[in-house]
Amino acid sequence: MKLTRRLLSAGLLAGTAFPGMALAQSKGTVGIAMPTKSSARWIDDGNNMVKVLKARGYGTDLQYADDDVPNQLSQIENMVTKGVKVLVIAAIDGTTLSNILQQAAAGGVKVIAYDRLIRDTPNVDYYATFDNFQVGVLQAQTLETGLKLKDAKGPFHMELFGGSPDDNNAYFFYNGAMSVLKPYIDSGKVIIGSGQMGMDKVSTLRWDGATAQARMDNLLSAYYSKNKVDAVLSPYDGISIGILSSLKGVGYGSADMPMPFVSGQDCEVPSIKSILAGEQYSSIFKDTRELAKVTADMVDAVLTGQKVVVNDTTIYNNGKKVVPAYLLKPVIVDKANWKPVLVDSGYYTEKQIH
Ligand code: BGC
Repeated sequence: MKLTRRLLSAGLLAGTAFPGMALAQSKGTVGIAMPTKSSARWIDDGNNMVKVLKARGYGTDLQYADDDVPNQLSQIENMVTKGVKVLVIAAIDGTTLSNILQQAAAGGVKVIAYDRLIRDTPNVDYYATFDNFQVGVLQAQTLETGLKLKDAKGPFHMELFGGSPDDNNAYFFYNGAMSVLKPYIDSGKVIIGSGQMGMDKVSTLRWDGATAQARMDNLLSAYYSKNKVDAVLSPYDGISIGILSSLKGVGYGSADMPMPFVSGQDCEVPSIKSILAGEQYSSIFKDTRELAKVTADMVDAVLTGQKVVVNDTTIYNNGKKVVPAYLLKPVIVDKANWKPVLVDSGYYTEKQIH
């Protein structure tokens, strides 16, 4: 009581001492747990979330966990202890958060899964993401276009790469891609030279480019002494860069050994540069500004008792429940449209690319 009075007279509780801070905190703090700074997309995600939430009067606690699961767990624990009102989490391993989210729920903290589904817990309220199956469809369609698969006779040699097996998205990307590629594989128009198919064989732990590069090195030396590889399904730009390094290492990208068509995702600057240099073939743009906006709308709605806007209530079963989700639309980016999509929209300046 005494403390309250003292704080009041110091203007702290009333917010008169630091009006800016009072405003920022008047609606409560949102904890934002991001996986890693090693990929630019997550840096953009974090910055966009902070910007949008601050503009709406929320305080923010943004943490990156270096792709280390225990690190992310303790960051989330700290946020809960400090009394955040909502957790926005892009999980490293979507299956490891059940205990801490149980505690969060007991304390009335709302949880929004950001881009990656949090699995095996009932304590996730909403999910803001992109149409992840469609991402995979689009990735494979770019390979279909590059190889002119609909009309060409083939056969073409292809290799498949998947994302991290602890990320629910990786399975959606892979399944989406296979919905396009499987008929060509079944008919023999596309040959998977290594025979390696299925997420248990093609995944890339933590989406690591070096891991993908090492696997590509192995595939090239074991299966491509006679045939050339014509296309590589890659789920993410960082993995594409690893695959391209491996290909360049054995002479692809020259007149007699053209670079295979390699897909990607996130439109990270090095990959857009690579597309312009004629190396990577395509990427997928997911506007993180839109994702931040949708997520902030969810935060606002859950804290003010409004109806949360979702556009999917059937797809994302996390093992305990179907998490109501809002899915944004992914867009193919290649040499032909990078400028209107990425520069004219203000996502990048042209200078960042050239
Ligand atoms: C995201 C992708 C990203 C990947 C690696 C996935 O969960 O949806 O946009 O490429 O993680 O960071």
